[in-house]
Amino acid sequence: MKGVLKIGGVLLGALLLLVLAIAVRAATWKPPVPPPAAHVAPPVEVDVAGAARHLSEAIRFRTVSNQDASKNDWSQWDRFHDWLRTAYPHANAAMTRQDLGRTLIWTWKGSDPSLKPMVLMAHQDVVPVEVETLGRWRHAPFSGEIAEGAVWGRGSVDDKGSLIGLMETADALAAKGFKPRRTIMIVSGHDEEVLGSGARAAAAWFKAQNITPEFVLDEGMLALGHDPLNNKPIAPIGISEKGYATLRITAHGKGGHSSAPPDETAVQVLAKAVDRIASDRFPLRFDGPGADMVRVLAADANPTTRALIANDWLFGGLIARKMGAVPAAGATLRTTIAPTVLEGSPKENVLPQTATALINYRLHPRDTLASVMARARRDVRGLDVELAWNPNAAEASPVASTRSEAWRVLSTLAAQETAARPAPSLFNGATDARHMSLVTRDIYRFQPIRIEAAEIEMFHGVNEHMSLENLKRAVGFYERLMLTEGDPR
Ligand SMILES: [Zn+2]
Repeated sequence: MKGVLKIGGVLLGALLLLVLAIAVRAATWKPPVPPPAAHVAPPVEVDVAGAARHLSEAIRFRTVSNQDASKNDWSQWDRFHDWLRTAYPHANAAMTRQDLGRTLIWTWKGSDPSLKPMVLMAHQDVVPVEVETLGRWRHAPFSGEIAEGAVWGRGSVDDKGSLIGLMETADALAAKGFKPRRTIMIVSGHDEEVLGSGARAAAAWFKAQNITPEFVLDEGMLALGHDPLNNKPIAPIGISEKGYATLRITAHGKGGHSSAPPDETAVQVLAKAVDRIASDRFPLRFDGPGADMVRVLAADANPTTRALIANDWLFGGLIARKMGAVPAAGATLRTTIAPTVLEGSPKENVLPQTATALINYRLHPRDTLASVMARARRDVRGLDVELAWNPNAAEASPVASTRSEAWRVLSTLAAQETAARPAPSLFNGATDARHMSLVTRDIYRFQPIRIEAAEIEMFHGVNEHMSLENLKRAVGFYERLMLTEGDPR
């Protein structure tokens, strides 16, 4: 009896210590990213009507990237390039333009060669409009109509809105006689929506010229009205983007007539391989940019949530499992595996000679193509299949700093222009900027506009539009960014 009491006492003591440790940690805990408090240029006047007119004109160039590039009407790009010259005379007088094929690089030379250049990116091409959706567009997708307080059309937000925002800014600043101390470069890829071969060439050009950017800003994430934790406005800034890779699994068989099948056909072997690989899901781990976003939001959260997140040394697994219940949130904590394509015999009564499957992976920055392949090979041990990456496989991007001056300035401007709390984040998609990791680690993915979650559908969907309010935010953000970083204190 005495011994039991003693053990009970020790356990109680340990429990009290644990509770105390959790409480102390919760009380003293601070989010891992500094609050947005950089010194930035004050808000500027924006000619929204002028920017809207230009965006409207830009949308009318049908720079549509087809999966099969031979179907592209390249004359649309060429005419767009001419238009970019005439629409922005001051910007083009102040900057030189280098054409790498149809990918454009403007350079606004700074007076201080000791400052590394800033690189601002926005792509020219747009995704096709599916014919069967035409009837659902409130304004024709290539009309560039200005109506209902917005500019309408394919590319209005993705991503001509950004390109026009950048060019408006450069033109306005050049007209006012602004001369940057830091070199400002604008890089505009011509085929982001398919391969980003233009951006890849641009990155190689930077490397060959020995240009190391201070930072790169491209599209990717944008401010949303409601964050998942506190329901308040959030401005997620992508500090890394996931890798993209497609695994091809091939199983071979003898072929022949299906009336006399072997014990196992190629389709069965393939099915086993797909199931084994896809069932071996990567563990959810509460770390990396996805976790940092939650940590930043926790500063505002209720005391219980805050205490849980402050004590992720103990509750990290629990938080990760909770996030994993929402696929998009879980995807920021691990590499995802999605079987997408199956192919076997071309005829129902013919045994397949080969059966193939494609599995699309999005790699978390903690994983590599080599480690993911090793895991898949382990999974299919004993099965007669071949595994290989499709040629477009890409590693996850390096994680950009949240301690850099660029982060401080970008997050401060994001907070002010979109009235939302900035937070680092992991971008689940792919941008042109990923190629720039060849020359810098500090790549940020943020479009300075704010929408509601339901409106995300307009990206690559119907009724894409840029509200005049968002156009004003974008130009205001870029102008203050060029003023602040172009002439650093
Ligand atoms: Zn885009």
